[in-house]
Amino acid sequence: MRVLVLGSGSGIPAMGHMNESVLVEVEGCSYLFDAGEPCAATMHTNTLLTFYGLEPEDALPTVDIYSIKSIFISHFDADHVGGLPMLLQVMHLWQKRGRAFRFKPENELRLYLPADVIELFKELLRALHLSRLRYSLEISPVEEGEFYVDERVRVSAIRNTHLKEGYSYSFILKAGGKRVVYSGDLGDEFEALPLLEEETDLAIIECAHFGPERLFRSLRLKEGNIRRLLVNHIHPSLYGREGEVERLGRKYLNCEIIVGRDGLELTL
Ligand SMILES: [Zn+2]
Repeated sequence: MRVLVLGSGSGIPAMGHMNESVLVEVEGCSYLFDAGEPCAATMHTNTLLTFYGLEPEDALPTVDIYSIKSIFISHFDADHVGGLPMLLQVMHLWQKRGRAFRFKPENELRLYLPADVIELFKELLRALHLSRLRYSLEISPVEEGEFYVDERVRVSAIRNTHLKEGYSYSFILKAGGKRVVYSGDLGDEFEALPLLEEETDLAIIECAHFGPERLFRSLRLKEGNIRRLLVNHIHPSLYGREGEVERLGRKYLNCEIIVGRDGLELTL
């Protein structure tokens, strides 16, 4: 399993910390958690080199967008869905290139959205002239509990209190004996704890709505279940301070701690 951070920032995008988007790759198939902008561009390394001011050897890892089976949206805040229409459009336009540019085997993509925004999102697609795509886009609601199962992965959702109005979820992905937690945005730092009831190979926890110290203090309560912690969706005040946050985390927690940066790749 490969986990690729496409966007590690929150709200305000900056170099190295674009908006939230995390890709999990299992046996050649990919699953996208949130689609903050510019996720479509980030997946196409070469087009972004100039944008990021990178030399080719620093290139972000490339992703085949047609390896994506399903997209899971935690909630409908702009920093989690801003890149979604463009991603759907790029997937549509590239299909003009020929049969290699298709989702396999049925040229179908599944999109899971909070139930309360599905009709609005379909209207948005119509307004953006994206209602007729070259592939079949199946839009379904995120449901609490295990709501997605295929040959490789199982995905569950737990509703959280991040949004006062509207649905917001955290996700748990299980594949090949590994367990990955994706917090999405939380109501407070303690909402990370129910996600960590079982041993977790990788906990991807946000750190935009509370400081890192508060997060690390609360995670101590489930420390024994966390093998690796990826602090992602970091507050703009933490941009450029990744090493400092990692050192702080090591004072509180006895597990591997990584602070998200765009292009970060982890193998599980
Ligand atoms: Zn957010």
